[in-house]
Amino acid sequence: MASILFHPLVPLTLGYVASRCDVPWRLIIIGMVCAILPDLDVIGFAFQIPYDSTFGHRGLSHSILFAGIMAAFGFFAARALQLKPTTTALFIFIATLSHGLLDALTNGGLGVGFLSPLSNERYFFPWQVIEVSPIGIRNFLSVRGLKVIASEFIWIGLPCLFIALSTFIYRQTKSTQHD
Ligand SMILES: [Zn+2]
Repeated sequence: MASILFHPLVPLTLGYVASRCDVPWRLIIIGMVCAILPDLDVIGFAFQIPYDSTFGHRGLSHSILFAGIMAAFGFFAARALQLKPTTTALFIFIATLSHGLLDALTNGGLGVGFLSPLSNERYFFPWQVIEVSPIGIRNFLSVRGLKVIASEFIWIGLPCLFIALSTFIYRQTKSTQHD
């Protein structure tokens, strides 16, 4: 996994950029939660579920199908939350899938089972630039943990910050032009 700190930054940034297209804050927060959810599969380690199995870490919960199921839930729950169903489903799909996409950029563990449960093949992108995060909080609070945070800051934090700032500046300039 990339660490739990940085996964939510993707929907947060995306939501900010799209905030004028029916993506209110409550949907952004739901998206941030969805971006963390796939890593609940680490619970499987406690139950001796093998890492490389369908229900193992980075398996089904990191798949395109799982993102689709979350999107379907979002679609049907949207009206109750006064959200637009299609926008909600799309946003949740992207937020959930972004988790696996970031994991596929990490340099350790097994790859991501994007096609699970159809295929248990694990995938990485050709650019494995993000330092893989150790599993478990105790391992995370270590020198290696700091290295992971630095790497995630560079490869996830900075691009998100750049996109958010550019959007903010663009909006400011546009609104001053209208004044
Ligand atoms: Zn993960």
